[in-house]
Amino acid sequence: MTEGHPEEAQRLLAIQDQLQAQQLWDFLEHYEAPRAEQKLLLNAHSRRLVDHIFNNSPLPGKPLFHVDPDTFMNEHSLDAALRAAGAGLMAVDLVMEKKVDNAFCAVRPPGHHAEHDNAMGFCFFNNIAVAAAYALDKYELKRIAIVDFDVHHGNGTEDIFENDSRVMICSSYENPLYPFSGRPTEPGHIINCPLKSGSAGPEFRMAVQKEWLPELEAFKPQLILISAGFDAHWADDMAQLQLTESDYAWVTKKMVQLAEKYSQGRIISMLEGGYVLDALSRSVEQHIRVLMGLD
Ligand SMILES: [Zn+2]
Repeated sequence: MTEGHPEEAQRLLAIQDQLQAQQLWDFLEHYEAPRAEQKLLLNAHSRRLVDHIFNNSPLPGKPLFHVDPDTFMNEHSLDAALRAAGAGLMAVDLVMEKKVDNAFCAVRPPGHHAEHDNAMGFCFFNNIAVAAAYALDKYELKRIAIVDFDVHHGNGTEDIFENDSRVMICSSYENPLYPFSGRPTEPGHIINCPLKSGSAGPEFRMAVQKEWLPELEAFKPQLILISAGFDAHWADDMAQLQLTESDYAWVTKKMVQLAEKYSQGRIISMLEGGYVLDALSRSVEQHIRVLMGLD
């Protein structure tokens, strides 16, 4: 985006570096994400929004296009956004066709703030919502859970699926905090767990244990999607939650157990936030270790 912007390319390099340093990289299968087709973006977004992003993509050498005060496009942003959404689509096919057990999509830009008709908060297209809509449509799934532990509320995902009871959204986030959204919990559909500034692992785990897990057990998701943001880490200065690597490993394990019980093990995790490179890369490593069954 701009020099010093937290949503930077180094985030993905730090993750790759950590996975290589910890000797996990060679045990993973790697895929290059294709660009999402426009018609698949339109399952989650309005034609107006898709046109707005495509039509304002700057030509080489031209000034950045400002989507909101913190979200800019350069000449490469549209391509990156299409590949971020395309990663989720590819992961749906790989997981549903049992070519892989589960998938982690190391993508940027993130997606969970992008609403049906509005891009914002470093997000252009809602990667996880585009993937969920595709899985509902192509594989005729009846129940998909989207679990979001990013420190910010996933307003976009909630907006896109607010009237679709095939999708259960379980979210934990610091409150009050950007984007100041999050409706009251609707059992069976939207499970929102706002956490006070300063909350740490015990409060987070209690919310997951008491509010997410019983709902997810009752819902019996056929596929679990994770909006995996790691900016609730104590070292991340984007917000004031105090999670650690072991909290991320713990919640991932809960999702793996649920997926084994109800979803044939099917989990697709997509990177959202997480801006302090060492905390991000260590947290992703722990998350992936559990997805790989190495915990
Ligand atoms: Zn975030």
